[in-house]
Amino acid sequence: MIRVYIALGANLESPKEQLDDAIVALRSLAEDANVQVSPYYRSAPMGEIEQPDYINAVACLTTQLAPIELLDALQTIEQQQGRVRNVRWGARTLDLDLLLYGDEQLSLPRLTVPHYGMKQRSFVLVPLSDLAPQLILPCGTPIAALINDNLRAEVKQLGTDH
Ligand code: ATP
Ligand code: MG
Ligand code: MG
Repeated sequence: MIRVYIALGANLESPKEQLDDAIVALRSLAEDANVQVSPYYRSAPMGEIEQPDYINAVACLTTQLAPIELLDALQTIEQQQGRVRNVRWGARTLDLDLLLYGDEQLSLPRLTVPHYGMKQRSFVLVPLSDLAPQLILPCGTPIAALINDNLRAEVKQLGTDH
């Protein structure tokens, strides 16, 4: 049984509800139907494309799925919630990125774990540290060492009533 962390992001078609629905779907991947979820955050989009702000969160669950099986399951949930891939970092109903798969470091054609961008993204690091303040990343860096006030100021917490 492996503990995994998943980043959720949405900025189209009622983004908060997209996250709520995704969390219900993620329960079916969890060994014990239990999913821990960070507070939701509002964040500005990455890149130059004009698009709505994002709602982001991080979820944690334990699973028996192999890494690629888990990626397939995450992409199925994205598709069930109407994800259309056109431009990179464009607006989307739901993005589910696998941040951490236990302590494993994987470099497969379809899957890089830890997620390549996680150490640079406030909308990932802040909710991840809410969920697991003592976490040590597979590279040996404590999550606490990556969090600072500037990073926190980039995201706005929306609350925990979900
Ligand atoms: P970014 O990866 O920069 O956050 P994105 O999430 O918008 O951008 P997607 O279109 O969701 O990118 O995914 C593109 C591809 O990334 C997927 O088809 C998947 O095979 C690959 N990928 C590699 N590593 C991961 C990972 N850790 N989690 C999710 N997808 C991954
Ligand atoms: Mg992403
Ligand atoms: Mg993605």
